[in-house]
Amino acid sequence: MPMVSMRQLLDEAAKGGYGVGAFNVNNMEQIQAIMEAARETKSPVIIQASRGARTYTNDRFLYHLMLAATEVYPEIPVALHQDHGNSPATCKSAIEMGFTSVMMDGSLMEDGKTPSTFDYNIRVTREVVELAHEKGVTVEGELGTLGGIEDGHGAGGDPMAHLTDPDQAVEFVERTGIDALAVAIGTSHGAYKFSKKPTGEVLVMKRIEEIHTKLPTTHLVMHGSSSVPQDLQDVINKYGGKMKPTFGVPVEEIQKGIQHGVRKINVDTDNRMAMTGAIRKVFAEKPEAFDPRDYLKPARDAMKEVVKKRMVAFGQAGHAGDYTPIPLAEMAKFYKRQLVNA
Ligand SMILES: [Zn+2]
Repeated sequence: MPMVSMRQLLDEAAKGGYGVGAFNVNNMEQIQAIMEAARETKSPVIIQASRGARTYTNDRFLYHLMLAATEVYPEIPVALHQDHGNSPATCKSAIEMGFTSVMMDGSLMEDGKTPSTFDYNIRVTREVVELAHEKGVTVEGELGTLGGIEDGHGAGGDPMAHLTDPDQAVEFVERTGIDALAVAIGTSHGAYKFSKKPTGEVLVMKRIEEIHTKLPTTHLVMHGSSSVPQDLQDVINKYGGKMKPTFGVPVEEIQKGIQHGVRKINVDTDNRMAMTGAIRKVFAEKPEAFDPRDYLKPARDAMKEVVKKRMVAFGQAGHAGDYTPIPLAEMAKFYKRQLVNA
C-alpha cells in the first residue's frame, strides 16, 4: 500500500482508543527494524525523520528506503513524518519529497533553539497548514517547549518553564487548523530527562487531561517519550559505554496519556540505546569480527525488540488491517470540505 496520511492513522487510533509510536530513523537498518516489528505485531506505524536525518540520508535515500518499506510490507499502513520542521520552507520541501505528514515546530524560532512568541507560532503554523492540507498532508504543531536538545534541536533548559497552557492550546488549534498538537508536560528530548523516577511534580500528566478536556477531538502528541530503560543502560555500560544514570518516561505514564487523547508517541532514544548496546556487545565479545553485518544485524534485532514492546504497550498492535488507506488526494478534498463548512 502507498504511504498513508498520519491524520488517518491518528483518527483510527482515536476510534480504537490506542496510541501510535512514531519512531525516528536515519538508515536502512532502523527502517527494517520498525517495519519488521510492525509486521510481527500487525501494527500501523509512523516513521519520522528529523532535519538531521534528512541531511544524513541526503533525502533521496530516505525516500527510496521508505518506498522499499511499503513494497516489502504492503500490509502495513505507514506514515512518513517530518519531525520538528523549523520553518515553512523545511515543511514544504518535505511535502515535495513525499512525506505524508509534517511537524511545524513554531514554538521555537527558525534556529530551532530560541523560544518564539505565540503570534509567530500561529503565523508559521497556519502557513504550513494551508500548503500541507492542499496536498492532503497532515500537520502537527507544538505549543509550549520541551527541555533538552536532540539532533541540534531544542531550547535546552528547564522543561517546567514553558508547559503548554490549556486555554492557549484551544486558541492555537482554532487559529491554525492543525491535525495534531505536541504538548509540553515537563519532559525533555534525549536520554537525560529526569534524575530520579519522575513524579507528578516533574511529569505533569494532569496537564494532558486538562488539554484533552478542552480539545477532545485534537490528537495529542508526546515528545521526549523514551523510557530509557535500565536494562538498555546496563548493556551499554557493561560493554564499555559511559551512560550516566538517568530516568525516562515510564511506559505506564504514556498509557495514562493514551487514555486522555495522546495518539502519537515519539520514541528515539530507546532505539538508539538498543542498537548501541548490541554493537558494543559484539565488539567486546568478538573483537575478531569486522564484517559490518556481524554487528548491524544484532543491532537491528535489538531495536526491533524495543519497537515491538512499545507497539504492544501503546495498543497499536493488531490494528494494521483495520482500514483501507485514503489517498492523499482524497484527504485534500476532506480538508477543503472542512474549510467550506467552517
Ligand atoms: Zn520532539
